Amino acid sequence: MIRSLLRPGVLQLLKPNIAAASYSTAAIPNPITEPEIKHTGIFINNEFYKSESGKQFPTVNPATGEVITMVEEGDKADVDKAVKAARQAFALNSEWRQMDASQRGALINRLADLMERDRVYLASLETLDNGKPYTNSFMADLHLSISNLRYFAGWADKIHGKVIPTDGPFFAYTRHEPIGVCGQIIPWNFPLLMQAWKLGPALATGNTVVMKLAEQTPLTGLHVASLIAEAGFPAGVVNVIPGYGQTAGAAISSHMDVDKVAFTGSTEIGHLIQQAAGASNLKRVTLELGGKSPNIIFKDADMDYAVEQSHFGLFFNQGQCCCAGSRIYVEDAVYDEFVERSVERAKKRSVGNPFDPNIEQGPQVDGVQMGKILELIDSGKKEGAKMLCGGNRYGDTGYFVEPTVFADVEDHMKIAKEEIFGPVQQIFKFSDVNELIERANNTIYGLAASVFTKDIDKANLFAQGLRAGTVWINCYDVLNAQTPFGGYKMSGQGRENSEYALRNYLEVKSVITKLPAKNS
Ligand code: NAP
Ligand code: MG
Repeated sequence: MIRSLLRPGVLQLLKPNIAAASYSTAAIPNPITEPEIKHTGIFINNEFYKSESGKQFPTVNPATGEVITMVEEGDKADVDKAVKAARQAFALNSEWRQMDASQRGALINRLADLMERDRVYLASLETLDNGKPYTNSFMADLHLSISNLRYFAGWADKIHGKVIPTDGPFFAYTRHEPIGVCGQIIPWNFPLLMQAWKLGPALATGNTVVMKLAEQTPLTGLHVASLIAEAGFPAGVVNVIPGYGQTAGAAISSHMDVDKVAFTGSTEIGHLIQQAAGASNLKRVTLELGGKSPNIIFKDADMDYAVEQSHFGLFFNQGQCCCAGSRIYVEDAVYDEFVERSVERAKKRSVGNPFDPNIEQGPQVDGVQMGKILELIDSGKKEGAKMLCGGNRYGDTGYFVEPTVFADVEDHMKIAKEEIFGPVQQIFKFSDVNELIERANNTIYGLAASVFTKDIDKANLFAQGLRAGTVWINCYDVLNAQTPFGGYKMSGQGRENSEYALRNYLEVKSVITKLPAKNS
């Protein structure tokens, strides 16, 4: 068992946050360090196909830089084929449209059961393809993906409209209907979890799906596709395409027969998705984009806890989180102590082979991301922020970056404004609480924010004043299926998770029936 080898810090870090109600930490099975690659095709109508173009692309193990396998490269022709399948599965008389809502829920639960059955395999494959530590894949990603599907399975037969008292002799009610064929484009930082976040609400509401996986991490999504067929979903309800954004992704977002597109990724590509939707058929758009989230530490906060949570809130998942707490504002009275302890903690962070249970940090997802992070570190140094540890590539194999801490960061610097998406912590000082809300909100983003304090008035003031889709108080990265997640401003549109996510997948129809005239 891995558990005996796990450093308590690793578990403590995950336990209160990501994996709170999860699998018992007493029983993390050993990983499969060389998982068999079973699926590399394009999944349409419950079958795997070769690409229409005959092209393939490599997916790489970021811990070594070696190619794991070649994968079929989906492009416009494959997207067209998948959209046809999804449209047919959505026909009014189709098995899917005729199915009882409770049966839809049962199928989603069945998919969750199969993911639970294959949990070790999926967690191992995620670690191989993405580089995240296996302990995280198993405890956080798999737990959250499975519980998200179960949550939405429960919604399937609880989605309904209203009866509305209306003027005149009419009976009016609303139907909440599926939108239709939904394109879904997901990123590489949480491949399984982003797939579950997208599939759960789309399927619970009765839509059909054409999903593009991120080119860096296609393998787990393809295994889940095989489980969709095994679970017994009718052919064409879910179609999964590995491929590139500029080709397959663009074909989805500009498709005339796709009714909605849901995207998670960079704000830059979010613009393109919305433009493509606008230029084509005005498909509905939901976006979950980047962030530069403020994490505020008041002097009355529990210092040990605030340091650990701030470390977790930034470094978790190699810093590749859209909601990373990447602007840490610390009150002047405790600033030096917080900086010193944060550096101490970052220096202790274990980096290396993600299959090793003692490792907290694996590689970045690819060389491009590693290069981008190292460039931003350089810009931080040039602009005069104080780099107190890290700053370099770690080793010379794979795409590892040393845990890095910058102090004395100022609001105008590039590293204060741009999403680094890597293991680089930035600490700012504040003394004026009144100014702080304005400073914290002075960003194009608005995904998340947090406050550490024992003063309820301060906590409430900031909970109200921070312009972000999630505000955590005395915690960080507490994400679960039941609470909505999404962005203000350029962090996105719409919400993932929770009852609110269902709204993004429903059309509302008014049905008005003439009643017989009174006394006739
Ligand atoms: P990205 O380009 O936004 O990729 C996200 C997804 O969109 C991928 O599946 C990508 O395909 C696809 N895509 C790219 N161009 C597209 C287009 N023109 N039309 C439709 N789909 C398109 O993100 P990235 O390049 O992987 O990472 C860059 C930065 O994005 C990161 O440094 C980070 O700041 C941010 N990011 C944010 C999140 C988040 O959770 N909000 C996740 C990942 C990245 P490919 O497979 O070809 O890339
Ligand atoms: Mg890969």
